[in-house]
Parts: sequence; structure tokens; C-alpha cells
Amino acid sequence: MQLHQRLPAESPGVTQVRLPGAWAAPGLRDAHVHLAWLGRSSENVGLRGATSVEEVRQRIDSWLTARGGNVGRVVGSGWDHTLMPGATFPRASDLPKTPEIVLSRVDGHAIWVNEALLPLVAAHLQSGTKPPGERVLVDASGAPTGVIVDASEALWARLKSAPSPSATRDLERQLRAGLRACANAGLVGVHDMATSVAELDALSRIRTADGGLPVDVVVYLDHSDASFAWLERHRGPARVLGPDLRVVGVKLFADGALGSRGAALKAPYSDEPAHHGQPADTNRLSSHAKRTHELGGQLAIHAIGDLGNANALDAIEAAQGTERSRRHRVEHAQIVDLADLQRFRSLAVVASMQPTHATSDMRWAEARVGPERIAGAYAWQTLAQLGVPLALGSDTPVESHRPALGIYAALTRTDADGQPSGGWRPHERLSLAEALAGFSDGVAFAAGLEQSRGDIAIGKRFAVTLFAQDLRDAGPEAWRDVSPLGTVRDTTVRPRRASPSK
Ligand SMILES: [Zn+2]
Repeated sequence: MQLHQRLPAESPGVTQVRLPGAWAAPGLRDAHVHLAWLGRSSENVGLRGATSVEEVRQRIDSWLTARGGNVGRVVGSGWDHTLMPGATFPRASDLPKTPEIVLSRVDGHAIWVNEALLPLVAAHLQSGTKPPGERVLVDASGAPTGVIVDASEALWARLKSAPSPSATRDLERQLRAGLRACANAGLVGVHDMATSVAELDALSRIRTADGGLPVDVVVYLDHSDASFAWLERHRGPARVLGPDLRVVGVKLFADGALGSRGAALKAPYSDEPAHHGQPADTNRLSSHAKRTHELGGQLAIHAIGDLGNANALDAIEAAQGTERSRRHRVEHAQIVDLADLQRFRSLAVVASMQPTHATSDMRWAEARVGPERIAGAYAWQTLAQLGVPLALGSDTPVESHRPALGIYAALTRTDADGQPSGGWRPHERLSLAEALAGFSDGVAFAAGLEQSRGDIAIGKRFAVTLFAQDLRDAGPEAWRDVSPLGTVRDTTVRPRRASPSK
């Protein structure tokens, strides 16, 4: 669509923007983001892509230098031991001894602390409050080494410094940064996952103060008591806080992540024969799922391993009974037992998947699960062929929030250097039409909003992402480097009135 040819001549209240040659894609949406975490990660030490512990130390050093060294605690994120020599988990002693240092792994499912915090971890181990899902790595003498996989809330509470009086202001600043980053990347809408009630309140205040949000935000609350209490108090229309902010469901967890070996597998890890990963407690998962369903909410269950996915589907099946209209979702649906693929369809479950996870994990995913289980891994096309609705996204800041990179990964299944040539398990690639739909209509559908949002159609709210050139014939590589010109959203597409006959 070439806007400059279609707009009516100058008319009052209409602003014309001429963009010769520009191309309007359906407004791009992301089905799985973490807005506050995205905003926060831009303020913390960024460790994404670091290929050694020396590089991690250097980045911490320059971050401290830039702040005059006067920092009580260093918080960082994005490290990935699979990029480092030996691909083994790092240790507390690899980090400077002071100040306190807390670094989250790129998937958010493991933390690495320095020696200043080891006494806290040891105290937590001895306290007997360590739940089964949490894995504190220890040395031969039983002392913690500095990495904790899927840390419990109890441990987080110990590690977190007391909330500062400026916590509310910090949260608003971080959410604004996350929202702005998403809008600048060409997104018109996002599904925010595991939002706390404090974050929801902050989003609401930002909406009021700024006269709206820069992207539509659909909220899936975290599974805290505060969230369930919020859902009890807010029923039906009370969950719509504005055209650009609504609460639709709750995010639950069936397991951890594959990179940090928290993903729960039915049989042991292929490269760690005694280890099955860490399934979340299934009784707790089912009771949370049931409660969410009964409160009229939609489930979004994080599931990575084949056991995690099976447990997520079981919880959905038990919660929804014979109902099939709620569109409960499985987030990631990364490694699915071939026997369970069909259940996505029969239970009318949405697969919320992140194409860039496949191209980040492909270096080691098969080593973790072996050649047989890999057949049901990152199986976008297989699920689509079964008639399972796909909602695509990024899981930012785990991956980049730029939807163009997600589309590039979906089209190619290669990394930024085009490797492996021809794509990893290329039969699971998506066509451009499928990828664009997955990042627009599919996201709207996943939240039950396809009547008013998604593609460009009569009766829907108009939302487009603008690019300087038509990318339909440009080849998949063009998506890797492209930046959108911007977005247009928030008007409703109306049919052109037929000219009166008399
Ligand atoms: Zn996530």
C-alpha cells in the first residue's frame, strides 16, 4: 500500500505524511515480552554475547567506572556460559570480591553471584526453605559455588536489597523505557508476561500521565496472591483499563529453561544422564490453573521440556474441562513429545513461540535432548500444519525485542551470520505470510482480540508498521538489518461509503 496515493486530498483534521515508496505491514505485535525487565536491563550491566569470564569482568569494570565506582551493588544480565570456553557454569570466584554482584543468565533462569553474597546463599541452603524446583550448585564439600538455577522467591528475597524509597519512580522509569523500546522497534502491541500488580498499577499511572501508552499492552499477571486478589476484585469489563491496557490472564510455570537445564524432560538429558530438569510442582500448577480459569482468566503456561509441556497440557485440560473457547496458551512450547503435539490441537491451545529462541539454542539444543526428541523441538511449521494457532514473540529481554529479527529467524532458521547455511531443521521455517500473521493477527487472536486488532481490515483498529521499502520481495536477509520508519495506530478502519445513488 502506498499511502501517498490513497489518502484523500487535504481535509480538516487529517495530517498527511508522504512516504514515497514506503511499505505498510500489518502492525507488528509481540506475544511475550517483559516490559519492566527490558527497561531495567538497559540500566544494568549488559552481558549478552560475552564469550569469557574475563569479558564479563571487563564489562562490570567499565560499568563501574562510568558510575564513578560508587555503587552498592552490581546488577547485570545476559550471560550465557554456553558461549564461554568449556561451556560450564561459572563460579563466584570468577567475579570481583566487591561490591555485591548479582548477574542473571540470558534466559532469566539462573543467577550468578560473587563471593560477597555466598554467605547468604549458604544460609538459605541451611534454612531448609529450599523448594525442590531450585538447584543451588555446590562443590564437593557441599558449599555453594555461586550459581543458582531457578532460584526460589525465598532466595530472591534474601538476595534483594531492601526496596528503596524511589522504587515506584524506578519502576515507572523502567516501564517507560521498555514501552519506548518496543514502540521504536516497530511494535504496536505487546503481551506483558508475569506482570506484578505493582507493575500493572505503574502502567496505569503512566497511561494517565502520558495520555496513553505507546503500544497496546495486554497483561498476563504473575501467579502471586496479589494477582489473584486483583482478579477477584476486577471482573469482566473492569479488567479493561483502557483501549491500550487490559488484563486477560495469568502466567504460570511448568518448568525452567533448557540452557540452564531446568527444562523438565520425560527421559534424562542426553548429555547429563542423571538429570531430568526441574518440573514445577504439578499440584500447585493445577490448582493455580484451575483458579485462573474459574476467575475467567486465560492461562499462559511457560513450558520448555517435553515433560513441562505435557504437564502444562494436563493442567489446561483439567482446568478447562470440556470448554474449548478460552484459548489457554503454552508459552515457548519448545520441546514437545511427538505424542503430545496433537493435544495442542485437541485442547484448542495456542502455541506462543519465539523464533529467535530456536536460532539462539540451535548450537546446543540437540546435545541436550538427542536426535529423537529434537524432532518435536521449535516445531513451528509442524504445529501450524496441525492447525494449532501460533502467536509469535521474542521473550525480550531474553532475546532482542526487534520483531524484524524474529521474522528473519522465522524465515531462515539461521543466526545473524546466516549459519547454518540453508537453516537449522529448515522444514520448520515459516513463510513470510505465516511469519507476519504470527506477529500480528496471531498475537491478537491469542488474547481474544482478533475482532478489533491484528491485520488491516474493515472494523478493526488500524495499526501498521511502516518500512522504507517493500520487504515482500526483498528476500529474508533484508529483515535482519531493517529498521522500521515507525508505526501508525489507533484509528478504526471504516468501509468507504458508497456514493449515494440519488
Ligand atoms: Zn518470558
